[in-house]
Amino acid sequence: MNIPFYARYHAKLEQEALLACLEGSLATDGLYSRKALSQLSSVYPGKSCWLSLTASCSLALETALTLCRLAPGDEVLLPSFNFPSAANAVLNAGGIPVLCDIDPDTQNISLKDAARKITSRTRAVIPVHYAGISCAMDRLLALAKEAHMTVIEDAAQAIGALYQDARLGTLGDFGCVSFHYTKNISCGEGGLLLCRDRKDFENARCYRVHGTNRDAFLNGECDRYTWVCPGSSTAVSELCAAFLSSQLSCLRKITAIRNQRLMDYLDFLKPIEQEGYGKLMKVPGYASPNGHIFYLRFASESLRDHIQKLLAGKGIDAKTHYVPLHLSPMGKKLGYRPKDLPESLACYDTLLRLPIHTSLTMEQAWQVSEMIIKGCRFYG
Ligand SMILES: *Cc1c(COP(=O)(O)O)cnc(C)c1O
Repeated sequence: MNIPFYARYHAKLEQEALLACLEGSLATDGLYSRKALSQLSSVYPGKSCWLSLTASCSLALETALTLCRLAPGDEVLLPSFNFPSAANAVLNAGGIPVLCDIDPDTQNISLKDAARKITSRTRAVIPVHYAGISCAMDRLLALAKEAHMTVIEDAAQAIGALYQDARLGTLGDFGCVSFHYTKNISCGEGGLLLCRDRKDFENARCYRVHGTNRDAFLNGECDRYTWVCPGSSTAVSELCAAFLSSQLSCLRKITAIRNQRLMDYLDFLKPIEQEGYGKLMKVPGYASPNGHIFYLRFASESLRDHIQKLLAGKGIDAKTHYVPLHLSPMGKKLGYRPKDLPESLACYDTLLRLPIHTSLTMEQAWQVSEMIIKGCRFYG
């Protein structure tokens, strides 16, 4: 058996779109960027949501943090069990990332710990919707409002997923989505920035094109193309946009297949919880998932390692996840010690992600599950 951890979806229109794109000039924000943007507008409907395509989710996060205009020493809350992108964005914007512990049911930021870490310098919070499972957004937004924090959703993994009826990424002041090759919808490298406020969107548009008024100029809103604010070059390339557009036309199908495998694993792996070998990922009632990740947390690190090795021996690639930021060399430099955030540490030691993608069959999910259950029983 050989079951890879990742396998990207091959959309039918990809080759055609790329070839058509090559006929053109590859100018930024060309036909395919506009097409992808229009497809995304129907994924994220609503009057008060402004979208711009970026070359990555990290750059969308960077843009959002730049627009927060942090003063040196301003603090931003984010979970430690996380990819470094959000923390880098805070550092690059001159702020201090304040690492919070996680909730053991969802591995998302612990609101209890976040509330404890609010100071007079706290300016923003960056919740991550881990595995495409929403944070408890009503409670998070209430906390943010009370403490006057800007909310930047790291919805990198969350395309297709919801909190109640709302698409993840549309609930905060900003939302950031990734189209990295490991994500549900992939164009190699790509991202999306969602802004709730029109003014933020206008600023983001200038930041995106070298801090110029290019977009307003092209729309005939001003007569000179010039430098108007600090900026960068963060737009997605037209080639990636062509790819993205063909992928987006399959979003529904991709999400449906992945969600079906997620449900299959939850069903097949029930004995793991019943027999006390670990806990399966939870889908809270307020969350509609997108099947981005399937994970379980084993009762011990040694059992997790045993199962990972066992699966590897059969050609099944299962993966652990993040070294929590507070445990990393950079986290140490920021002054954290391993035991500061115990739940993040425990998650790092016990979490295992199983293969989940559109090429994985129900039969394979069942075989993987059976191997894990038998492996646990044999291990004792
Ligand atoms: C993938 C990921 C990112 C980075 O996305 P890029 O598009 O590669 O920049 C950031 N945060 C989280 C939680 C991610 O999973």
